[in-house]
Amino acid sequence: MNILVINAGSSSLKYQTYDMTDKPVVTAKGVCERIGMDGSVLTHKVGADKYVTETPMPDHTAAINAVFAALTSDKGGVLKSMADIDAVGHRVLHGADKFSESVIVTDEVEAVIEECIPLGPLHNPANLAGIRACKAIMPGVPQVAVFDTAFHQTMPDYAFTYALPYEYYEKYKLRRYGFHGSSHRYVSQRAAEILGRENDPDFKLITCHLGNGSSFAAIKGGKCIDTSMGLTPLEGIEMGTRSGSIDPAILEFIMSREKIDVSEMTNILNKKSGVLGVSGVSSDFRDLDEAADSGNLRARLALNIFDYEGRKLIAGYAAALGGVDAIVFTAGIGENSPQIREHMTDGLEFIGISVDPAKNNIRGKEADVSIDGGKVRVLVIPTDEELVLASDTKRLAQ
Ligand code: AMP
Repeated sequence: MNILVINAGSSSLKYQTYDMTDKPVVTAKGVCERIGMDGSVLTHKVGADKYVTETPMPDHTAAINAVFAALTSDKGGVLKSMADIDAVGHRVLHGADKFSESVIVTDEVEAVIEECIPLGPLHNPANLAGIRACKAIMPGVPQVAVFDTAFHQTMPDYAFTYALPYEYYEKYKLRRYGFHGSSHRYVSQRAAEILGRENDPDFKLITCHLGNGSSFAAIKGGKCIDTSMGLTPLEGIEMGTRSGSIDPAILEFIMSREKIDVSEMTNILNKKSGVLGVSGVSSDFRDLDEAADSGNLRARLALNIFDYEGRKLIAGYAAALGGVDAIVFTAGIGENSPQIREHMTDGLEFIGISVDPAKNNIRGKEADVSIDGGKVRVLVIPTDEELVLASDTKRLAQ
């Protein structure tokens, strides 16, 4: 069984093909960049081989066509024809409170994803374009939508309701939704497997997805009870270029003094803030480490803020859960930065969290990095959102 998974952004589209006949095997992967712009390029990878094709991609349909050409090409193709694809899984950013799990895309599902565009204005239109392009090119092949928000739908109302006039929730569905759902779901299930706590309703876990975008989740018995991102992925901890949570009054303060409008302010909060804004150096944590180590005080400050905000979230979620059995670090920073794991957990010994520096000196692989006999297990688990998409797609298509 061949499954194609697609993660469509506004100007890029990532894809991966799996042979799911037995155990999931990735057969090819790639990315289309600069969709809708000059100089669009497709990079296709099969094992260690890489094929780069410059081809016009004015829209997502053209990008999907280019992906199909790469998948069936003499050079680097892994399929005889696109008829070999049995189902397609699509990452969809926002499903609001309509979807608590993945679904087969029907006309009704498509209409709801469209309705959710005001909540995910940058991503939902691209996700829909990807779905529509696949439907047009391969009619009759099941399309599955996997929502970033779905895993967090189990949050109680007191965790997802903002203290605003209630009518805004009723009129506009303004509430916390949370994101990175497939990642939190994947690593929480892996943690339960590793620790032999599957189906244990009392298993209390905190998952820390630390990447270009970062979010935390408090998970009890496999169900999310709180998460740090909100209505949009802007809320929570300081990120690469996003501010995370700030005093809302700051917006009016800056807009009136700098004479900027709402869209420029939103752009500043999303693209010019976070560790990039504070340090003035980079949004990439490797650059920040290097700058901080060579004495750049603002790079050090940006890292200190990240560690401090993360530590407060972990301790807060331990309180929300009424204790904690394990924490998981995942995504680019969580998997690869021993320093962040050590500094973010520094001072949390009072709730039983202690990292062993020797065990913690690892990158990009599964490991238990807590001290021997530590009350709380501290795990590093590389995330695999594409595998979640492929597995859900196989299950639903069957
Ligand atoms: P992601 O969004 O999950 O792809 O993660 C991207 C982030 O991971 C970037 O900020 C990278 O700087 C960060 N990252 C990747 N490798 C390392 C590393 N070895 N040390 C620190 N940060 C890293």
